[in-house]
Amino acid sequence: MIAVLASNNSHKLDEIRALMADKFDKVCSLSDMDIHTDIDETGTTFEENAFIKAQTIFDMLGGRYAVIADDSGLCVEALGGAPGVYSARYAGEPCDDGKNNRLLLKNLHERESLFPKNRRAYFASVVAAVLPDGRKLSGEGRVYGEVLDEYRGNGGFGYDPLFYCEELGKTFAEASMAEKNTVSHRARALAALKEKL
Ligand code: IMP
Repeated sequence: MIAVLASNNSHKLDEIRALMADKFDKVCSLSDMDIHTDIDETGTTFEENAFIKAQTIFDMLGGRYAVIADDSGLCVEALGGAPGVYSARYAGEPCDDGKNNRLLLKNLHERESLFPKNRRAYFASVVAAVLPDGRKLSGEGRVYGEVLDEYRGNGGFGYDPLFYCEELGKTFAEASMAEKNTVSHRARALAALKEKL
């Protein structure tokens, strides 16, 4: 079976391809399907946004392919769960990982001038699948860690250089993709989805 990933994020595509290789013969990107569109993420939860993306692309492809979409983000305890579903556009649009990371540190430092330092955070992901047989399934995953003060590592994307993963003992940007895929929120969400598939 062929699956289409409803995302333009090449890092997510690489991670999901590696994780879904045992379930699908091929995981195609939107550009493989000649779809060049930005989907408005109007939901207020990861699950709503994941289904908005998967259903939109499923309909555009005429219901012929299984479509998978991930919606994910970083939830920081001291910031009341922000940036959460707004992680990609935390510092505004167009989305910019560097600006997002700088704003995250700025907001944490401001808060720390008034309150005790608390860097607890987790990444969350919901992966939704809309299938040609009519099923709509999803899985959810989390990974816990801390937001560092300085960037560490050159790999990954998004908040990876600031996110120290407790289970790996390093930041996600210091981990290889294979290491990240052993513990990541997306890997866990996909594992939960695979159980249902
Ligand atoms: P989405 O494409 O709307 O789901 O946005 C996800 C955003 O959350 C990304 O742009 C990143 O800022 C952040 N994010 C999600 N997963 C990861 C990850 O594995 N590493 C680093 N940042 C992530």
